[in-house]
Amino acid sequence: MSWRSASNVAWLRGLPAVREKQPLASHTSFGIGGSADFFIEPAKAEGIERVLTGARERGIPYFLLGAGTNLLIADAGVEGLVVRVVTREHRIDGTRITAAAGLKMMRLARIAADANLRGFEFAIGVPGSVGGAVYQNAGCWGKEMREVLVEACGFMPASKEKKWTPADLKFGYRTSALREGDLKGGFLVEATIQLKRGDGEEAKAEMAKLTRERNETQPIKTKNCGSVFKNPPGDSAGRLVQAAGLKGLREGNAVISEMHGNFIVNEGGATANDVAKLIERARVEVKRRFNADLEPEVELVGRWR
Ligand SMILES: Cc1cc2nc3c(=O)[nH]c(=O)nc-3n(C[C@H](O)[C@H](O)[C@H](O)COP(=O)(O)OP(=O)(O)OC[C@H]3O[C@@H](n4cnc5c(N)ncnc54)[C@H](O)[C@@H]3O)c2cc1C
Repeated sequence: MSWRSASNVAWLRGLPAVREKQPLASHTSFGIGGSADFFIEPAKAEGIERVLTGARERGIPYFLLGAGTNLLIADAGVEGLVVRVVTREHRIDGTRITAAAGLKMMRLARIAADANLRGFEFAIGVPGSVGGAVYQNAGCWGKEMREVLVEACGFMPASKEKKWTPADLKFGYRTSALREGDLKGGFLVEATIQLKRGDGEEAKAEMAKLTRERNETQPIKTKNCGSVFKNPPGDSAGRLVQAAGLKGLREGNAVISEMHGNFIVNEGGATANDVAKLIERARVEVKRRFNADLEPEVELVGRWR
């Protein structure tokens, strides 16, 4: 049965500041994707929890949107309700920081340095939100979220908010129980990270150095989604794509970066279908040439056929 009953649509239309047919491309780093049927950005976590509970009770599909930096949203848009997480508070307690899900990882990295806390410099390389980073066990320069996260507060619609331990989150390489396990559909409300006392100025110098190096090797300033593929065990997806001679391969206005083989760049006006075709061509060619399986790190969401 479709979720689009008259009473469900009336409920959705009654949500505070709800927008219909909201274009999503500008909410993603790729700048690609169709519209959300319904879209809201509650200011507080409790608002998100109420809405998710209501959607779940009514059988309305929902999608949580963070900073949109790991998504390929279908040209035909996203079914049901998209809830953009924009909660950005944080509190510091000794060497621990608790951050709301919508806070950007880069901002949190600077907050940690300002508080003379070390161990979170890697987050300067992750443009997403804390929620997306926990969902994905984001990492950079050999460090991952799971190495600093000590506690998380989450919410499964239709159940009570509860504490999640790192073990509950079942972190793996670019995944967690939120992405593939029993917490699928759950909302990460906030996360607590444990850091070490240190020199904040040294942390800032380290982050500046890492950012400089990265700007020289990756097309960071373009419209992209970061790494398109996960690295296969013992190898690098970028190396495989390059060795297969695929750099510069184009579909419409989407192109495999000449600078780094694991990036696809939207040169302006690329469609999700263009990018999906490039992903498929790279997977097929790398399999044919090297018998290696490339698994997407970017998440395809919405109405794909
Ligand atoms: C230039 C560039 C460089 C990048 N470099 C890296 C890198 O070095 N390492 C790395 O790991 N990633 C990297 N990424 C990818 C991306 O930044 C990370 O995957 C990030 O964790 C995604 O967070 P987000 O807020 O953008 O999530 P989104 O892309 O908005 O969403 C991703 C998934 O997270 C879910 N989600 C978001 N918020 C919540 C929440 N509060 N509760 C539950 N689920 C939620 C969404 O529903 C979705 O399924 C890069 C991206 C870009 C554009």
